[in-house]
Amino acid sequence: MELAWGDGTRMSGEGGRPRGRDDHAVVIGAGFAGLLTARVLADHYRAVTVVEKDVVRDGTVRRPGLPQAHHVHILLDRGVRALEALFPGMTAELSRQGAVPFDVCEMSAMLPRGWAPARPLDLPLTSPDRGVLDRLLRRRVLALPGVSLRDGFRVDALCLTPGPRGALCHGVSGRNAAGRNERLEADLVMDASGRHSRLPGWLAASGMATPTERALPLRASYTSRLYEEPAEGRWKPAAEITQAPAVARGAAAVPLAPGRWLVSLTGMGQRPPADESGFLDYARSLRNPHFSRFVIDGRPLSDVHTYSVNPNRWRLYHRIRSTPSGLLVVGDALCCFNPVYGQGMTIIALQALLLRRLLARRQAPSAFTASVPRVLIAPWLMAMAADIRWCPQQGNLSAMVTAHALGRLLDQAPADPDLYGRLFSVIHLARSPASLLHPSVLARLAHPRPAR
Ligand SMILES: Cc1cc2nc3c(=O)[nH]c(=O)nc-3n(C[C@H](O)[C@H](O)[C@H](O)COP(=O)(O)OP(=O)(O)OC[C@H]3O[C@@H](n4cnc5c(N)ncnc54)[C@H](O)[C@@H]3O)c2cc1C
Repeated sequence: MELAWGDGTRMSGEGGRPRGRDDHAVVIGAGFAGLLTARVLADHYRAVTVVEKDVVRDGTVRRPGLPQAHHVHILLDRGVRALEALFPGMTAELSRQGAVPFDVCEMSAMLPRGWAPARPLDLPLTSPDRGVLDRLLRRRVLALPGVSLRDGFRVDALCLTPGPRGALCHGVSGRNAAGRNERLEADLVMDASGRHSRLPGWLAASGMATPTERALPLRASYTSRLYEEPAEGRWKPAAEITQAPAVARGAAAVPLAPGRWLVSLTGMGQRPPADESGFLDYARSLRNPHFSRFVIDGRPLSDVHTYSVNPNRWRLYHRIRSTPSGLLVVGDALCCFNPVYGQGMTIIALQALLLRRLLARRQAPSAFTASVPRVLIAPWLMAMAADIRWCPQQGNLSAMVTAHALGRLLDQAPADPDLYGRLFSVIHLARSPASLLHPSVLARLAHPRPAR
């Protein structure tokens, strides 16, 4: 199937280069990263083709390539602002679709050593239905001149040609919606095919160097269900925070729209059960009593969905001496984070803004590969510091010392509102991790405030 929006750019059949145009970008994947990247590329390429293996209709909200849409997705304030910069009016559109923004301090959040202090933090959050968010983005992107979607098209190889200065990537090939093999020629290929990206295998099949990976042998699991709030209910957003190595069970409950709440139970190295009684028992086993109330008092509006991922994997493409020119990697295909920290989409939005800045300065797209680690490194080190204690055999001494210090700060947060504010501002990507090196914070490590 072939769809075209905007100026109606059409592929020219086999060979696939838009007629009369020589600047064509192909984006693999119509997920969050693919759509944001297409938005940026549309300002610089005369034609942008987003290629998606799923069949996607205008109204599609749930689809096989987006299994995480059944689970809680928090969009941090920094991510909302980045989306607004890329798609003016998006915040208003999200609230028209029912998204209910709230501040972190409105959550009943259970930290590993007690309740989070109820102090205003000015850290607003939004928890849109992930499928609805993608539908909004898709509509905005496909309305841009020159942007089109080829859905039902599974990319299974790159088109690579050796050249005097290394290989050149000049397109992709795969199986189209009619079941035929097809090539799409392009000047730029962006891999935005998510955490299961097969790019390393495609490079290896062509005899090219593949990236080394940083990853932890860990599973993060989600089991989620949608509930209707009872008429007399006064539900508040809720969270239970995991902490390595002792607190492996966590949860989050957020409003997707007024009266419709998504409850996700999470497990590090364990999977919350998907049967009715197991789901309730797991909710009851949490220290935050709100979770069992959601399950007991709410009316289920959906089946129970489960999903497990390997969190925290970074493919170090910037370290490969010669990646093919004309090929970039973005989003989870490049680096994915433990979803329990709620940072993934925000970090992708920051990658899109970086690409926009580089292209606006007329830098070659390849500058993105060299620059993107600057966006990733701080959240990556924080995620590693939080998660390395699940797999201590993977950590060196300095990683374990950092992890231990971070654990101590989190332990003190219930009794220390100022520390709690600093810590969560860093987790929400609102402040640099360097702010945790402030003398007042270091002093608290040495002399913790007594618990209240
Ligand atoms: C359970 C869970 C909860 C999460 N919670 C949060 C949260 O609270 N906050 C947050 O910010 N982030 C969260 N995340 C992370 C967030 O979902 C991801 O960071 C984000 O979806 C990644 O977007 P992406 O576009 O890179 O990949 P994806 O969303 O996975 O999109 C990849 C797309 O590529 C398509 N594709 C794949 N292979 C091919 C191919 N060969 N040919 C054509 N198309 C292909 C897929 O069908 C898909 O549409 C969560 C993740 C999970 C798993």
